[in-house]
Amino acid sequence: MTLNVIGGGLAGCEAAWQAASRGVKVTLYEMRPEQSTGAHHGGQLAELVCSNSLRADSVLNAVGLLKQEMRLLGSLIIGAADRTRVPAGGALAVDREAFAKAVTEQIEGHPLITVVREEVHAVPEGYTIVATGPLTSSSLAENLRAKLGEDYLAFFDAAAPIITRDSVDMELAYFASRYDKGDADYLNCPMTESQYEVFYQELVQAKLQEIKDLDKLVVFEGCMPIETMASRGRDTMRFGPLKPVGLIDPRNGQRPYAVVQLRQDNREGTLFNMVGFQTRLKWSEQQRVFRLIPALARAEFVRFGVMHRNTFINSRRLLTPSLELRSDPRLLFAGQLTGVEGYVESAASGLIAGVNAACKISGRAPLVFPVETAHGALINYITEDQPGPFQPMNVTFGLLPPLDCRVKDKQRRNQGYADRAIGKLTDFFNKADPCYLFSPETT
Ligand SMILES: Cc1cc2nc3c(=O)[nH]c(=O)nc-3n(C[C@H](O)[C@H](O)[C@H](O)COP(=O)(O)OP(=O)(O)OC[C@H]3O[C@@H](n4cnc5c(N)ncnc54)[C@H](O)[C@@H]3O)c2cc1C
Repeated sequence: MTLNVIGGGLAGCEAAWQAASRGVKVTLYEMRPEQSTGAHHGGQLAELVCSNSLRADSVLNAVGLLKQEMRLLGSLIIGAADRTRVPAGGALAVDREAFAKAVTEQIEGHPLITVVREEVHAVPEGYTIVATGPLTSSSLAENLRAKLGEDYLAFFDAAAPIITRDSVDMELAYFASRYDKGDADYLNCPMTESQYEVFYQELVQAKLQEIKDLDKLVVFEGCMPIETMASRGRDTMRFGPLKPVGLIDPRNGQRPYAVVQLRQDNREGTLFNMVGFQTRLKWSEQQRVFRLIPALARAEFVRFGVMHRNTFINSRRLLTPSLELRSDPRLLFAGQLTGVEGYVESAASGLIAGVNAACKISGRAPLVFPVETAHGALINYITEDQPGPFQPMNVTFGLLPPLDCRVKDKQRRNQGYADRAIGKLTDFFNKADPCYLFSPETT
């Protein structure tokens, strides 16, 4: 029996890999490069559409714990990220080209996976994982809307620009990490109070791109455009991405009034992205206004920020904690489309869907990951019936059940969450049928 996986992004590739690693034949459909999403730029599988960071790597952070669990489960995506990482302090950031190439080669080289480069217009018959992401093509989106009714949702999200390192004025910018913690991986562009004032005034008056239906849709707080943040008050950016604390300028020993941080975007270190600068300004306005940051006066933009539609389904009503559609259990969903938010979260949900599709195809009961694990807590949050509107969700320790005893110190508490999660995950796998949890290829 063949498993269809629709969408060769982070979730779809991880799902295909996990299922194939358990002996299941997979056909993976990807519409690029023939048909683009508007945010992707090439034809490689698992392309990172915006930041090159997979966020914190330490298990003292929930997304670091999620990654560690994925490593234990033989994750394709985290394995490729580990092999293509670039310096980024405590974060796992990757060379985006090398990362996508590594994933593509592994998927295309797997003997049980066939990659079909075509757009899928309707959900096919048979076991299928839908992992078409926030920019699901419109024909498939319509098909899903007809199938799922009002539980098919959408909101808006934004991406940040990327500039060349050569175009940054190194007389003004300096490498440093906040409070000198870890390596000095961020390139910091300082501003005085008067420079900030000019920048702020121009930013709040800059012209925006027209976006159809924007008023009807919600902007996700976690990915707020920089101009929206600025419009909330003169100092809001200085308490957010332009926070200067712990970033002393080595040339004068002073703390700047505001600091724009740039993070390395490729292995060669020739490209940097503007941290927190997701935006919907017109491209000409991005160039004009962002060049008011003194170190970026001659910045060369290789990619401008964009604002885009983000599609997801109401998983609370539609999905089981194994990511099956309640009304049609041969259909599973994964990735951003399920209402998880972020690269790692999308891949992690792909991992769960891939394992569970393999379980179902081999006649076993699908798995519900323990809620004490980062995987289980995240999926529990998006699939459990809860009051209030359904909003996409990043993994955080707040989703895990509290520890048995109260630990005041945050680091020790987070270590407690991590130890408990890894212990539960290991127990869970040791007790369950090993042939579909740890196959030889995934250990
Ligand atoms: C512009 C943008 C910026 C983002 N920035 C970040 C960020 O900086 N950090 C972060 O953590 N998260 C970010 N996200 C959110 C999210 O983490 C990413 O979208 C992530 O790629 C989601 O993974 P996915 O596998 O669900 O979808 P994707 O990675 O988008 O993969 C879906 C795939 O399905 C394909 N597809 C779509 N429709 C069809 C069809 N009908 N037939 C065949 N193939 C189809 C697409 O071409 C695509 O390759 C961003 C999202 C967007 C859209």
